Amino acid sequence: MVSRVIHVIPFGVILEFCFLLTKRKAFTSMTAIRRDEPLYRNRHRVFGKRSWFCSIIIKVMCAHEKIKDGHKAASGGYGGSSSGDRSGPISDLCFDTSLQEGGASVLGSAGYEALEVQSVNTNFSYHEEKKLLEHGSKMTALERGITVHDLESSHMPQILHSVVTGSNPSIKDSGLSVSAQESLPEHPSLKFAGSTNNNLTSDRLYSTSYKMGLVPDGKVPDGQMRFLDIPDKELVSLYTNVRDCRDLREKYQKVSLQQQHQNPKNKPEWEIYPPPPKPSYKSETKTILAVLNKPDAEVFDFNACEIPGEDPNWDFSTNDDDAYVVYKAGQDPKESVIADIPSLRDYYVDVEKLTMISSDGPAKSFAFRRLQYLEARWNMYSLLNEYKETAVSKKNPHRDFYNVRKVDTHVHHSACMNQKHLLRFIKHKLRTSADQEVIFRDGKVLTLAEVFQSLNLTGYDLSIDTLDMHAHKDTFHRFDKFNLKYNPIGESRLREIFLKTDNYIHGSYLAEITKEVISDLENSKYQNCEYRISVYGRSINEWDKLADWVIDNKLISHNVRWLIQIPRLYDIYKRTGAVATFNDTSRNLFQPLFEVTKNPQSHPKLHLFLQRVIGFDSVDDESKVDRRFYKKFPKPSLWDSAENPPYSYYLYYLYASMASLNQWRATRGFNTLVLRPHCGEAGDPEHLISAYLLAQGISHGILLRKVPFVQYLYYLDQIGIAMSPLSNNALFLTYDKNPFPNYFKRGLNVSLSTDDPLQFSYTREPLIEEYSVAAQIYKLSNVDMCELARNSVLQSGWEVRIKKHWIGKHFDEEGTQGNDVEKTNVPNIRINYRHETLSTELELIDYYSSFYKQDM
Ligand SMILES: [Zn+2]
Repeated sequence: MVSRVIHVIPFGVILEFCFLLTKRKAFTSMTAIRRDEPLYRNRHRVFGKRSWFCSIIIKVMCAHEKIKDGHKAASGGYGGSSSGDRSGPISDLCFDTSLQEGGASVLGSAGYEALEVQSVNTNFSYHEEKKLLEHGSKMTALERGITVHDLESSHMPQILHSVVTGSNPSIKDSGLSVSAQESLPEHPSLKFAGSTNNNLTSDRLYSTSYKMGLVPDGKVPDGQMRFLDIPDKELVSLYTNVRDCRDLREKYQKVSLQQQHQNPKNKPEWEIYPPPPKPSYKSETKTILAVLNKPDAEVFDFNACEIPGEDPNWDFSTNDDDAYVVYKAGQDPKESVIADIPSLRDYYVDVEKLTMISSDGPAKSFAFRRLQYLEARWNMYSLLNEYKETAVSKKNPHRDFYNVRKVDTHVHHSACMNQKHLLRFIKHKLRTSADQEVIFRDGKVLTLAEVFQSLNLTGYDLSIDTLDMHAHKDTFHRFDKFNLKYNPIGESRLREIFLKTDNYIHGSYLAEITKEVISDLENSKYQNCEYRISVYGRSINEWDKLADWVIDNKLISHNVRWLIQIPRLYDIYKRTGAVATFNDTSRNLFQPLFEVTKNPQSHPKLHLFLQRVIGFDSVDDESKVDRRFYKKFPKPSLWDSAENPPYSYYLYYLYASMASLNQWRATRGFNTLVLRPHCGEAGDPEHLISAYLLAQGISHGILLRKVPFVQYLYYLDQIGIAMSPLSNNALFLTYDKNPFPNYFKRGLNVSLSTDDPLQFSYTREPLIEEYSVAAQIYKLSNVDMCELARNSVLQSGWEVRIKKHWIGKHFDEEGTQGNDVEKTNVPNIRINYRHETLSTELELIDYYSSFYKQDM
């Protein structure tokens, strides 16, 4: 030790001298010497031109260090003490010298130790440090007979990483020490590393993933593990419950044809009209193609569309629950229904069952632990592989976060523009169309100028502040106040003029502003929106009016699809006398849809509009209490009370009629619809159980944090959750408390969406704003953002043909087979981790629940 100090001091001084002579720049260059280049050449490159004097000094230093090396080898190698003083760069330089002069391309054990030393070296920048590590990995790989290509595509990075940074010298021989293996998360593909086949199936039962009831089995080669003990009774019953819940959901989803492969629009023969834009880039040849893509609105021609005729085979009616059913024409509706949709009673029995299971103490603890485990597993994965993931995405040509396809999976159409946009539009209309008659109020028709006169305002007065549509502090836990924010300047007449489709001017202003928004989307190319647009159920011709508005204004775009949002406002319509019973609402909502399916020529525009409709959304304030007035809920035709039906009841009637409709539409080859309600934003977490059974995906879902068992089910079924942390921040849950980052880590199928750009966004690109705030606060990496974008495409309702173009030809296959990194920019290693983690959980369910019959 003493001799080391003696050696170090003079060279520290010499170095200081050298530093002064060659100025700071030269010194910086010296510390930046790359390990993978012969030192001697570098030294000359760096110092040769500057000072022969320095060069000599360094040569002497190195010679001296080599002698020192010899001393150290004899006395047990490097300690960790070289960090912090100026001897750091010198000893590193000399380490390189030994590498070069020994002519070895293989790291000796001294090499590993030296790498360890350098890993605490503070004289290297982040990038240099990474280069060094990468170089070390490649060396190790060569030594182990793995090609560099394998290294880049294999799933072994954490092993290599451990080898490079690990402190155990024995690591070199075995790849991993026993303790290191134990401390690693079970790695998805340890056994499959080097193999090109990623199809992990039955062998996984023996993987070390489970750590539950596992013992080494002498009969299985290579000391693999397998289950030998009889599983614990409680575990068997818990897993059996999980299986039963999943089976129930499967039943509801299947019969309503909400699964992707059941929808005719996802079949290869489905024709999209107008056809999607032609690709402008050919990846095989890496050439840009000269294609001219016209906007859909220019291509679309209503008269060129073929409208099918009447279907004589099926007819529709309502059943005992007042839900719509489809039956064989001319036969008894009860005898010949197209499909057996679960009845209202069955549904409530199932909801009750799920509620009982999910509120059971042991089930809650169990699910909570599984979720904690998933999060811990993610943390381990992320710690070990983050650098590798970034490296892969860097090597990926052309693609980055900005040009991966992303879908805003939840946005309300009447709030789809930002405030500045709306303000500009209002001012423009005041300037150019002040004399246009726009609204009928208090017995007379008013022009736009008269409306503003009555408000005592001129165009000059208008500002974002007078518009007052931003949701700030005042809307927190006040959904009622938030709803009022849709009124510009707090005036419902301005909302009616500018933000409604059905008004005195036939929604022409809203159509105009929508076209501007669509044009922005088309220019951005990679951003797409699923707009929610309202059908209220107050009158039977709402559907036709809406379809006319969309088709006549040609609001058709490759970047836009529609969802129909149905506000839960029966109580208000009842109060105003618009409806007599809940059944009136139900009829207004569904009768036109059955008519158009029976005979598209009866509502031709609706038929065309429906081709661009993905499904239904159920919206309103979830925090309103669902009071239970009835032991057994009456059917809609008997629901004449002034009270609003509960959330679960609304959802069932949307589901039941939609399921029959879908069955019929599928037989006719028309696209089917899905249910994607707002759910779990506030109020009773029981809403999430209803949606678990009935819905294909949900929006918000922040209340899943309170019901671990249900959250675990959402994970297992990979139910799409369109989350909007900025919206929650203004309404129900502050940003820092949002469970989004936990869901993401655990592997729930989450995407980011804007909800209401008009109320929450400040920029021209609300979706990017949503991503960017999340990235800043939750520290999301580029790969995380690309994975979220990929999730958003998977959740969305675009046709499979388009999804294939966006995220890869085989996107519907499992695991890495389904990933095309060139399109998604998500490394295979990430996809493999997600797939493997989920498969493990699913196999556990299969395994434990298989003991159920024998055991109980
Ligand atoms: Zn919303």
